[in-house]
Amino acid sequence: MMMLKLKDFIRQHALWVGLVAVAIPLLAHLWLQYNSLSQLQATLPYQRKAYMRKYLSSVIEKVITIYDKQAEVALSVPANAFHHKYPNPDFDYNNAIDLEQVQQYFSAHPFDGARRLFVGSISGPTDPNYLIIRFYDPVACSFVGRYGTDRDEYNAAHAAAANWMAMIMTDSQPQSTRPTVDERDPKHRIIVKPVLDEKKRVVGVAGLFLNDDIFLTQYLGPVLHQALPEWFQSEAPDVILTVFNQDDKLVFQNQPFDGTAFEVGWHFPFIYTDWFLGMRMREMTEEEWSRRNFLTSLAVSLLTALVLIGGIVLALRAASRAMKLSQMKADFVSNVSHELRTPLASIRVFGEFLKLGRVRDSHKIQEYGEYIETESRRLTQLINNILDFSKIESGQKTYQFEQTQVETVVSDTLKTFEVVLEQQGFTVQFEKPAQPLPPVVLDHDAIAQAVINLLDNAVKYSREAREISVELGQQGEYATISVRDYGIGIAREDCEKVFEKFYRVGNSLVHDVKGSGLGLSIVKHVVEAHHGKVTVESELGHGSTFTIHLPFENGSRPRPEPKDQGHLLGHEFQVSGETGA
Ligand code: ADP
Repeated sequence: MMMLKLKDFIRQHALWVGLVAVAIPLLAHLWLQYNSLSQLQATLPYQRKAYMRKYLSSVIEKVITIYDKQAEVALSVPANAFHHKYPNPDFDYNNAIDLEQVQQYFSAHPFDGARRLFVGSISGPTDPNYLIIRFYDPVACSFVGRYGTDRDEYNAAHAAAANWMAMIMTDSQPQSTRPTVDERDPKHRIIVKPVLDEKKRVVGVAGLFLNDDIFLTQYLGPVLHQALPEWFQSEAPDVILTVFNQDDKLVFQNQPFDGTAFEVGWHFPFIYTDWFLGMRMREMTEEEWSRRNFLTSLAVSLLTALVLIGGIVLALRAASRAMKLSQMKADFVSNVSHELRTPLASIRVFGEFLKLGRVRDSHKIQEYGEYIETESRRLTQLINNILDFSKIESGQKTYQFEQTQVETVVSDTLKTFEVVLEQQGFTVQFEKPAQPLPPVVLDHDAIAQAVINLLDNAVKYSREAREISVELGQQGEYATISVRDYGIGIAREDCEKVFEKFYRVGNSLVHDVKGSGLGLSIVKHVVEAHHGKVTVESELGHGSTFTIHLPFENGSRPRPEPKDQGHLLGHEFQVSGETGA
């Protein structure tokens, strides 16, 4: 029982149920998306910062690896260049280092990141703590003065080499022999490496002074640049990279940019450990970037939702129209069957009376005969309309255009309709211009049918009023035929709709009058096939005036059937805006 009721409810309110069924998930979807986008907006800056840091660390790692490897090679001086072994009877203190061999090695293994190299050993049998250091100039490819270029350089080299030197005098083997860095004097940054003999004992040291400019311009800069497009694609040109030294001074910038603020930073490991690599986006911070992302995604979602809703509304409107049309068709069938049955029943009854010969009174016989005639005419009219409609719908309606006097068509029609009008007590005023109108190219029967439909409506919707006027006239290029009644009238909002097929005004006054809803749609189609138009002026309760406008002969040529003539609903039609006579 409940299920049936529910099914009934859904069927009756199918459109609304459909709309709600689509709208609820759509709104839920939008809400969820809004939430997830907000969350994303909140987390995105962190993710992006993490991504930027990853980029920085990966690039730095690359440069450092290069330096590590290059230094390792440059400083791997052969152990036999050092004559040490303390105490060693053959040890020549004055010739503790074979400088020639070292020079050969240095020049054979150049590394442009080093501005100066050095080797160190011990000197003097009595004073083992006395270190000797020899400085090598990689540009001149030769050893330079005993104390390097200045005292600071000399001191820095001694300080860096000292730890290893101490091991020269022992037999101990160091745990690690990787190059180490001494940056206690930032002006003289040193990578130093012990030189080991075959027994893994320290026999000397080799070291190099870092060249800051070369590090920035030949190694760090190019590596940063190369990796940018791969990491940031189209955003790469917006990435600003800066390097700050131990004094927070900007020593490198990949492109000009006002201000030195950075969003993400990373310290160098191994060498330049007191330096700092900063990064930011040129146009916007990542907060701004993620807000823009959020807004764009939200806008796209809203737009999609709007398009979807638009589509749904259109589909629902189409469905609602289809439902209305199908309802109208159902009404049409019931109206038409009623309209067919009523006159047929009268004809049969009066026919039987006459057949049985019971009616002797000649007046009565005449009256019955007129009744039968009138009812047959009504039937013919109805059937004509149905046949016309079906021809129009299937695109088979054809017209025989001829030059004709409009007046002839109208007066012929009025004549055939006269009996009906008189029977029902109508008086008809026929007004025409004093001068005959020029002829019009038209299909006599089709226009007559249109006028009959207008007259028929005037009769049907007059109620108590018993007056109809037909007026022939001229409006500019058009001959006009107006049919005016003083009946129930048509509400403003219905004035356009009455020309649609099957449409019948839904008020009780119309409901009492049977009709098919086809008459005016046929009038409209016929008139438009003549290049004309049909208009209505009406006031509720005071009557209506329907006017057919037909272009005069010289204003119009007979034309082939309009291609879309089968579709009455789709036609443009003109209805006078004014209501009220
Ligand atoms: P019907 O067979 O219902 O008369 P029509 O297409 O001729 O079909 O008319 C459509 C509707 O327009 C009618 O149902 C009626 O509501 C309205 N209508 C037509 N003519 C008149 C009129 N002269 N006065 C008032 N209403 C009219």
